Amino acid sequence: MTDAALIERLLDVIEQDIMPKTAAGVEAGNKLFGAAILKKSDLSVVVAETNNEIENPLWHGEVHALKRFYELPHERRPDTGDCIFVATHEPCSLCLSAITWTGFDNFYFLFSHEDSRDSFAIPHDLKILKEVFRLDPGGYNAKNAYWTGYAIRRLVEALPEAERAGSQNRIATIAAGYDALSAAYQSSKAGNDIPLN
Ligand SMILES: [Zn+2]
Repeated sequence: MTDAALIERLLDVIEQDIMPKTAAGVEAGNKLFGAAILKKSDLSVVVAETNNEIENPLWHGEVHALKRFYELPHERRPDTGDCIFVATHEPCSLCLSAITWTGFDNFYFLFSHEDSRDSFAIPHDLKILKEVFRLDPGGYNAKNAYWTGYAIRRLVEALPEAERAGSQNRIATIAAGYDALSAAYQSSKAGNDIPLN
């Protein structure tokens, strides 16, 4: 599998498996963050989920996907070492820890912590990293003994030029979809009971 093919598949999963769930989640009053778990062997989706903080403020997209993953019957649940973890947005400190404690050796994300703050008006990821862990943006160890975190856009930038434009166009389309979801969340969030909304 080439990097280009993997990137195309990850964008497919975000667009087709995660975004429809997120559209419904935002409609219900949740944030727009989502995640999926794929089998490394054939890149099929095991679970795709979205943020569900109106039920429990710990149900970030990533943690909610993990909750669903562990609700699967044991025989249908692959080892996490055999899986790819996909997050629409760079995981926060809670989700970085959740991915670590559940044994994944990787995660891929589309939008960065800075995007969450600047494009999506959710500053909490960076604020918590700074306030609790004294980390500046980019300050956590993205390649460590547990896992490697991959920014999909950085992988796209490293593609041969001929393959790059197609992926960049797809990402622009997806980003426009997230802009609409963000506007919907921001206009509905006043007065909800999510502690860090
Ligand atoms: Zn999180």
